[in-house]
Amino acid sequence: MTSRTDEPRDQEVQALGQVLELLAECTEEGRLARAQKLAAKVTCQVAEDELIIAAVANYNVVVDVENRRIQHGCRDFQGQARKLCLCKHVAATLLALEPNRALLIARELANGAQPVSGVVAAWRLEVITRFRLGG
Ligand SMILES: [Zn+2]
Repeated sequence: MTSRTDEPRDQEVQALGQVLELLAECTEEGRLARAQKLAAKVTCQVAEDELIIAAVANYNVVVDVENRRIQHGCRDFQGQARKLCLCKHVAATLLALEPNRALLIARELANGAQPVSGVVAAWRLEVITRFRLGG
């Protein structure tokens, strides 16, 4: 009954833990807790290396990795984006990604969220009121 195939999974669990820590710097506790519940309901419509488009609840979240840009439009995000903070939908989308990938993005977001000098990789958070896949 012993399994030695758990190691890659352990690594993923660890990565997910790190993602959560980093996201905690980008949003507050209550939002992050709600994001963790929402993560299971995230549907990725596009999941390419450079572009992720997810549907969360009734909203779309676009993670444009190439241009370091997140587009989303819920009411909470409209206020949060100005502070470079994430709403639960965006956090949930990141939690739903493959952990190692989410880690790269979360790391950059967390850096951008703090006024640390020498940070180059700031992400832009763009409010979009409507997004329709395929026009
Ligand atoms: Zn949102």
